[in-house]
Amino acid sequence: METKELFQKLSMLAAEIDYDIYVVGGYVRDLQLGSPGKDIDFVVIGDAMRFADYLKKNLQISNLVQYQRFGTFMMTYAGYQLEFVNARKESYEDTSRKPQTQQADLYTDLSRRDFTINTLAMDISKEKYGEIIDVYDGIRDLKHGIIRTPLQPEQTFYDDPLRMMRAVRFATRFGFQIDSKIFEAIRKENERLSIVSQERITEEFNKILMANQPSRGLHLLDETELLQVFLPEMAAMKGVEQKKNFHHKDVFYHTLEVVDNIAEQNGTLQLRLAALLHDVGKPRTKRFDQESGWTFYGHEIVGERMANAILKRMRYSNEIIQYVKKLTKLHLRPMALVDEDVTDSAIRRVMFNAGEELEDLMDLCRADITSKNPQRVERFLDNYDQVVKKMAEVEERDRIRNFQPPVNGVEIMELFNLEAGPRVGKIKKFIENAILDGQVSNEHDACVEYLMQHKEELLD
Ligand code: ATP
Ligand code: MG
Repeated sequence: METKELFQKLSMLAAEIDYDIYVVGGYVRDLQLGSPGKDIDFVVIGDAMRFADYLKKNLQISNLVQYQRFGTFMMTYAGYQLEFVNARKESYEDTSRKPQTQQADLYTDLSRRDFTINTLAMDISKEKYGEIIDVYDGIRDLKHGIIRTPLQPEQTFYDDPLRMMRAVRFATRFGFQIDSKIFEAIRKENERLSIVSQERITEEFNKILMANQPSRGLHLLDETELLQVFLPEMAAMKGVEQKKNFHHKDVFYHTLEVVDNIAEQNGTLQLRLAALLHDVGKPRTKRFDQESGWTFYGHEIVGERMANAILKRMRYSNEIIQYVKKLTKLHLRPMALVDEDVTDSAIRRVMFNAGEELEDLMDLCRADITSKNPQRVERFLDNYDQVVKKMAEVEERDRIRNFQPPVNGVEIMELFNLEAGPRVGKIKKFIENAILDGQVSNEHDACVEYLMQHKEELLD
């Protein structure tokens, strides 16, 4: 169903019970940006619960979920995810002149929204279909790429501190700037994020990590000091120390590059989290050695434990926790295999330990190469390629060792009308060699045909 058709239908049904509905928030914003989604929010000027009942009756909807207490309901319809909410009217005394009240209701509702770019509404009534209602200069801020609050920022963030995370999220997703007044307000109120439930914080954090360039958001979280509040272990990764002629790379900025590298490959959330935490054990294991400079011995083991604690605290699923722990623990192992006299069994052990996650582990190792020195990058990439090659070779050798041709002894006996005996073994060896030499493909029917073609010489 075309979106316009959907809007007209819903608006008409609302009109039948004397209500107005407006499209608001993310959909209208993304429409202006040229990429409207299928997730659509509506404001109902009227009683949303009554509208829900009316829709259920008239559209035969079975999946409608109502939250009476919040005056909101959701449903899926024709592939769209629709959410309706009551415009709040408590601040309005004068309800006698309906049109003004309706307008006022919508406006009040819009003023309660987090950012100007999210305050846009679209009229979908028959008379004014498609008209954009822009009370807070949301379109201007969209054009200029600015995140701003419609009302006083301190109050906005005080009322719902999660909005500070949302500011970072939208700035990251769209590559927008956070207005300097807003930025200062976040820096002032950042501590208050701690009153927000961890689930809500984590949900916003995930969206920041899933952006095309998560480092933008991680920088902003750092600069606003929100990161200190919910992920102090990451904030602790900042800083370099110089001792004698030795200095170590800033772990925080290195990590951001690794996460961006994974994002560039369209990596999953769990792989991005592994990239984020793989070096989290470094600050605690940092030691200075007079001879060799800075060392981080055991940081992968300390990191594994820290990742476990952090991800539990952030309410990630057990599956994600186990995955990130595994990659953190193993992240140094593949590159250690580049050593010339490394044995097959050492290579096999890493592959076995990584199991299903081997490919992701190798992606992480590849993303971990962030040096600014082109010669070093070249050398590391060359090492990486060698390790990948060694793994492929071991796998191939193992495959050949365990190789079973697709035609077995019993079938050979039937095909050639033979009794069990050394001849059967010889024919088996013959087909095995033919497969390994590439004379015939490793498939049952092809092998039978090949055997029949060579029947005479085999029985000779
Ligand atoms: P997305 O594309 O990620 O869904 P969205 O803008 O639709 O972005 P939602 O979280 O779905 O974001 O919220 C829908 C709308 O509700 C927002 O556009 C905003 O107007 C409003 N909103 C959501 N959360 C808040 C909040 N914490 N404070 C104020 N307004 C909010
Ligand atoms: Mg939305």
